[in-house]
Amino acid sequence: MEIHKYVNKIKDFILDTIFPTKCIGCNIKNQILCNDCIRKISLNEREIEGGISAVFNYQDPIIKKAIWELKYHHKRYIGEKLGQLLYEYLIEDISDIKMSVPGRSIYVVPTPISIGKTKTRGYNQALVLSKSFCDSCENKVFEIQNKIVIKKLDTIPQAKITNRKKRLENVRGVFEIKNKEIVKGRTIIVIDDVTTTGGTMLEIMKVLKKAGAKKVYGFAVAH
Ligand SMILES: [Zn+2]
Repeated sequence: MEIHKYVNKIKDFILDTIFPTKCIGCNIKNQILCNDCIRKISLNEREIEGGISAVFNYQDPIIKKAIWELKYHHKRYIGEKLGQLLYEYLIEDISDIKMSVPGRSIYVVPTPISIGKTKTRGYNQALVLSKSFCDSCENKVFEIQNKIVIKKLDTIPQAKITNRKKRLENVRGVFEIKNKEIVKGRTIIVIDDVTTTGGTMLEIMKVLKKAGAKKVYGFAVAH
């Protein structure tokens, strides 16, 4: 596992040196995603379903490309930018959540991926997003909890299933809570890159609630 990580790191470094960063949307130099392009990305209606908010419309070519590069071309820095945007665009919702639990840290749970995928990709993109999301908050009320939700089983990728009911069935029972004690009474935000029908997120939210979480929200970059 460690070797994979280093190989990917070296690859990232070499590629970044040969090809300096260019904006995903317009190729302007030294920008990951420039402000002009960010403003052009189409937004979603705020809430998708059952406490899930997804900022950008996944059909938008810029956001689609950004997520593709993050997941399949080892461009972790794109995830850092997207995590920051997730925070900025949901700032109102975040303020409300913060006010509901004054003085208490809010847990951030990245949607887990299988061990196999983590190995080949070198990282979990949801963890990259989550870290940058938490770092965007000045008063540090967020605490990453990367180990409490475990993906027990490998599943067929949700994107490959067109039927909504089958998608929900596909993820049922797949996630497990590692440490129920620390979940009890907490307010939690689950983070992912894309939510299609919300199936994966809803399932994680469900198991967290079952383990005793007080309130669980889902934040995704795109839908
Ligand atoms: Zn641009």
